[in-house]
Amino acid sequence: MSLIKKIIPGALIALSLTSCNNMAQENNEFNYIVDRFADIEVLRYKVPEFENLSLQQKKLIYFLSEAAILGRDILTDQNCKYNLEIRTLLEDIYNNYNGDRESADFKAIEKYLKQVWFANGVHHHYSCDKFTPEFSQEFFTAQVNALPADKQPANLGILSKVIFDPAFMSKRVNQAEGMDLITTSACNYYDSITQAEVDAYYAAIKNPNDSTPISYGLNSRLVKENGKVVEQVYKVGGMYSDAIVRIVENLTEAAKYAENDAQCKVIETLIAYYNSGDLRTFDEYSILWVNDTTSQVDFINGFIESYGDPLGMKGAWESIVNFKNEEASRRTEVISENAQWFEDNAPTDPRFRKEEVKGVSAKVITAAILSGDAYPATPIGINLPNANWIRAAHGSKSVTIENITQAYDEASHGNGFNEEFVIDESTRELMNKYLFITDNLHTDLHECLGHGSGKLLPGVDPDALKAHGSTLEETRADLFALYYLADPKLIELGLLDNKDAYKAEYYKYMLNGMMTQLMRIEPGKDVEESHMRNRKLIAEWAYEMGKQDNVVELVEIDGETFIKINDYDKLREIFGKQLAEIQRIKSEGDYEAGRALVEKYAVKVDPQLHKEVLDRYASLSIAPYRGFVNPTYTLVKNDNGEITDVKITYGEGYIDQMLRYSRDYSPLTK
Ligand code: ZN
Repeated sequence: MSLIKKIIPGALIALSLTSCNNMAQENNEFNYIVDRFADIEVLRYKVPEFENLSLQQKKLIYFLSEAAILGRDILTDQNCKYNLEIRTLLEDIYNNYNGDRESADFKAIEKYLKQVWFANGVHHHYSCDKFTPEFSQEFFTAQVNALPADKQPANLGILSKVIFDPAFMSKRVNQAEGMDLITTSACNYYDSITQAEVDAYYAAIKNPNDSTPISYGLNSRLVKENGKVVEQVYKVGGMYSDAIVRIVENLTEAAKYAENDAQCKVIETLIAYYNSGDLRTFDEYSILWVNDTTSQVDFINGFIESYGDPLGMKGAWESIVNFKNEEASRRTEVISENAQWFEDNAPTDPRFRKEEVKGVSAKVITAAILSGDAYPATPIGINLPNANWIRAAHGSKSVTIENITQAYDEASHGNGFNEEFVIDESTRELMNKYLFITDNLHTDLHECLGHGSGKLLPGVDPDALKAHGSTLEETRADLFALYYLADPKLIELGLLDNKDAYKAEYYKYMLNGMMTQLMRIEPGKDVEESHMRNRKLIAEWAYEMGKQDNVVELVEIDGETFIKINDYDKLREIFGKQLAEIQRIKSEGDYEAGRALVEKYAVKVDPQLHKEVLDRYASLSIAPYRGFVNPTYTLVKNDNGEITDVKITYGEGYIDQMLRYSRDYSPLTK
């Protein structure tokens, strides 16, 4: 199972009503908010300094961006095998509709389509629950029948069942213990096969003595055909070939504008992997990629994270093209230069620490395009590659995407969140002043140091924590960051200028973990997503550990619940103790202890507090989830057809962008 190396932006970023006042003024004309529907707000992000890149770098970014957008369909199909047909059908209805476009039925179709675009399918991108259409099946069927004959699907029956039958394919990724996670999940990584058969298949081909194992199953769909288990490999000539061929064309073009030989080799090796589907070549590519730390432009493009697979093996397709933000990178460089100090001083058992922390490279980047699993909902940090042995031998690249965090922050100014949920004026003031920087530092510490810290005892299976591995790994990285955020070392290194600054993040973390993140959960449901579980685990466990000394309190003011932190020093001690225990669990592969913590603190929701949070949150009308439209890049050519510049524009709306991508970048639906 791959570890979670990617931070999904908590809506709690919405808390950051920060100190960037002058930035806000500069950005007056830039409208960050693009659209709002269901539980979603769509933003746009700026790409500062793009204009100042060299022409060669701009061309490189252009072709990498094309290669990125062309993979969008793959992820949609991976999420559920009916997604592309449903999306196309809804778009056809949307484009062909001649009736009243303000009518309730049409508005409901539009809303549903916007949700499908946002989630890359019919299941919510975060909760994995299927969307509930607010239009009638009669209206839908009438619109399908009104389409030209060549646009009417032959399998309307099954598509209607997917849309309208709440019990059919109800969950994209089912994590409920004790069930067959494969047959009860609607994702398209497996077909006509049981979990036991999947387990048996991979157990048979895995070599437990291989110290450099490939990422088994990462780039394939596993199915049973005529009683035989078959891997359908994603590659040129294999599954998703029509999209991959186009991606390869654009990567080939991009390679011509590589900044240096090393980067050219990275792109060529990725192309070789797309051609062969050989996961050994993917490892070669990953090593070349992690070693290229000098190029300013960088990108990921491929089958990467495995959250979409209940068994955590299959890679969801994604791409992010980016370039280094030289100025902001100083912060993470300071952190990684001191990685060994942090490791040596961790509050963990010395047996579980790394004697030598290797190759933690860290930088702050500016995203230029987002696609697949990173679009429209996007991570604010990346830490790759995922293969444990490559990380151990070659290190990892860790990045914070600052133009994305900045857009979140800018779009949150004045939304009333802090006034509603933060206990008093002095805490709000502290957060206004320090939350943006401490949030960023938390991300840096989590990504640059947290995931890379510690070691397994010899002989411990990296997958020993099984279904709870992701949650506990995120818990470990978060605790590492929380513990050090309060360390005087950060002031000594010039990363913070105030010894109380960390309290802003501590308050936010406890508030989010115990209360406000619940706004993302429907009444009566459990917490399932691993980042949310990890935050709840830390916060509720800390609350209980500090109960005797009244470290953290839940107080009631005018009938509303507030978090009150009475002793920040002790809270830091508690985070340190938690880190020691979680590291022990990881290092020893103590599945039982890990399971017990997750079950006790991370899953079950107090229904009364949950209802209160939902009610208070609803009164603010803030969207719990946010994502982005991309800017548009256009080639500027002279009379001889030579590219003289690449122009960036930001004006495109959400619907326009989605329809354009489906029209011009949709190799799997044509
Ligand atoms: Zn993480």
